[in-house]
Amino acid sequence: MITRRTFLKAGAAIGAAVAGSKLLQTSKRSALAAKEPPKVVERIPTMCEICFWKCGMDITVEDGIATRVEGNEYHPLSNGMLCPRGTSALGILYDQDRLKKPLIRRKNEAGEQYFAEVSWNEALDFTAKKLQQIINKHGAESIALFSHGHGGGIWKTLMKAMGSGTLCAPSYAQCRGPREMAYKITYGRAVGSPEIMDTPHSKCIAFIGSHLGENMHNTAVQDLSHAIGNGAKLITVDPRFSTVAGKSDMWLPIKPGTDIALILAWTHVLIEEEIYQKDFVQKMTVGFEQLKEHVKDKTPEWAFLQTGIEPSVIRKSARMLARYAPASFVHPGRHVVWYGDDTQRVRAIGIINGLLGNWGKKGGFYLPAKYPMAAADIPHPKKYKVFPLIENDFPLGYDIPAQTVMKSSLKSKNKGRKTVKSWIAYGCNLPLNMPDPVALKEAMNDVDFILAIDILPAEITGYADVVFPECTFLERYDAYDARENRVPYVAIRQPAVRPMYDSKPGYWMARELAKRITVGGETLEKYFPHDSLKQVLKEEAKLNGFSFEEISKKGALTQKHDALYDPDNTLKLNTPSGKVELYSKTLADAGLDPLPNYTPPEEPPPGYFRLLFGRSPLHTFSRTTNNSQSMEIFGENELWLNVQMAKSLGIRNGNYVELTNQDGLKSGSPVRVKVTQRIRQDCVYMVHGFGRADKRLTKGYHRGASDTDVISRYKEDPVMGGTGMNVNFVSLNKVDSYKAMQLRRID
Ligand code: SF4
Repeated sequence: MITRRTFLKAGAAIGAAVAGSKLLQTSKRSALAAKEPPKVVERIPTMCEICFWKCGMDITVEDGIATRVEGNEYHPLSNGMLCPRGTSALGILYDQDRLKKPLIRRKNEAGEQYFAEVSWNEALDFTAKKLQQIINKHGAESIALFSHGHGGGIWKTLMKAMGSGTLCAPSYAQCRGPREMAYKITYGRAVGSPEIMDTPHSKCIAFIGSHLGENMHNTAVQDLSHAIGNGAKLITVDPRFSTVAGKSDMWLPIKPGTDIALILAWTHVLIEEEIYQKDFVQKMTVGFEQLKEHVKDKTPEWAFLQTGIEPSVIRKSARMLARYAPASFVHPGRHVVWYGDDTQRVRAIGIINGLLGNWGKKGGFYLPAKYPMAAADIPHPKKYKVFPLIENDFPLGYDIPAQTVMKSSLKSKNKGRKTVKSWIAYGCNLPLNMPDPVALKEAMNDVDFILAIDILPAEITGYADVVFPECTFLERYDAYDARENRVPYVAIRQPAVRPMYDSKPGYWMARELAKRITVGGETLEKYFPHDSLKQVLKEEAKLNGFSFEEISKKGALTQKHDALYDPDNTLKLNTPSGKVELYSKTLADAGLDPLPNYTPPEEPPPGYFRLLFGRSPLHTFSRTTNNSQSMEIFGENELWLNVQMAKSLGIRNGNYVELTNQDGLKSGSPVRVKVTQRIRQDCVYMVHGFGRADKRLTKGYHRGASDTDVISRYKEDPVMGGTGMNVNFVSLNKVDSYKAMQLRRID
């Protein structure tokens, strides 16, 4: 077993694979360039996986080659449209850098590590043997799964079948977990995805660090366009003049880390001026008196000293929200892990939404419904355990924080204790989505075995022992999607083209492993009784009374749902009191703040800026930063730097800089500076997901910089374990442009 893992960036096997892919690309081009019209033209509906919104998408296929993508008209999340990332779907399907064969890490005679291309049988036998050894020696719970995306469910089934409940997803502690936790505590349910804000009918929306338009979730942006078209007032609170700030009536350039102070001051204004929704508060909430006492001294004048926002502006914006209530809301955000007090910040937002009385109201939050779906009759694994070091870390949390798994894998931090022994990473590029890169590398080196399942040679594959090449979402079936929504729906993902190279669908891989692993003297095949996922889908269509042929033809089926609102405030919520918990006894009983408190943030040291990061409408983190179509339009990220600060540092627009953080960590590649007045002087900002470190990613390698290289610190949310990552500071060192270009070269 190779325990000291070298990060593998390139090898002869990969070179050969790329050559093969070029041949394929050539044949694709010749087919398209042919004079005769295509013989067979099909339009195949499926659902997009460029991000996790899962819009309906129609693929035009000509003689077996996908040539066009469009929004599906039957799917309520796309309404016939796609976002710019969705339209680049063929860029991933026909990416020449794709993983093409299973890979096993080996050592040559000189002791150098390399990836050998192997057959599926060899890769599956080898992987099953390793996992079996770990199960037998350390217990199945020593195997952890990191997953992201719709296909992760299959791997969760395999994990539980093996006996492990050590399942995590960075989308929880590194993204929207605090939001869902805050709403579960306050309203008895998560905001969910798609979010349940009734944006199209809203008359006033406040965004706090929420970059809708840069964060390009299709329906959310369509809804916001409707709201703007209907004349909705927008308020944007952000240290940066974001895209949505440009559409707003008010921009509040807040000092980073002081949002809770602003929200408490808004709450103060609503209560002091008695402009909250009294009937809603009386019938639907508990803890109003405690809240009133809590914000008594949180005046706009007090908040001004923290946030830098003028008291008159705080009052004006609070009154604007109140004027349009209940058809107004403060957006709960999506990527909300900023300062470690994030559940409390989102609770503060939930509380002010309670005062606006917008739960179950037109223009506030609607009441969603789900297309009723029964699952195929497949045995569900029941006996599984979570790794003991992880189990009770955050008792109120509803999921396992990914960094807890990382910390539980470190031998140096857990001397004398049993550590996690193996990682399975499904569609999860951990080096670009986890904080603390030093600890992450140490943990990846400490575990005995890593299996990475991916489409591209994402950085995580460079640390794996075995790599399984999965086919893209355009080449496979996945489980039906039937989430809560305004219009209940069930949607299908089905292959538009045959799997390319030697890539396989996740269901096939998991089933083949299940056949090879035994627990209690039995293989795990009974948990995967169908030969293919298509069979499962057919069975479920029959069970739920719809036609598999019809859904395959349309892409999505919908139902009517009229009970969207609760105009008379009669709802019973799923909280202990059945009401909106302004004051939370659950938090108080757990020894946590029952009402949100404000703590001033740490100041950047002299010469440093707070590092903020966000998104581009063209990209889904590192998932798309090797996609030729997305990269053609947005090919590298930039570092936003305030014009005054640039002047004082002698940095000009377009110069390249290297980032060094407070712990001395440097960015792996330089980043181009965008000198702008659209950002405060105390922070810098960049789009996440760039600065790829693996040379196999020929279009993304060293294009821009990766913020995660310099996110060595994070503050853990005491409620649920979210990793507040906006607590890192960077200094900027100018780099010669020629050197910056040289660094991108792939020899
Ligand atoms: S929002 Fe865009 S990328 Fe995400 S699923 Fe929809 S079309 Fe695809």
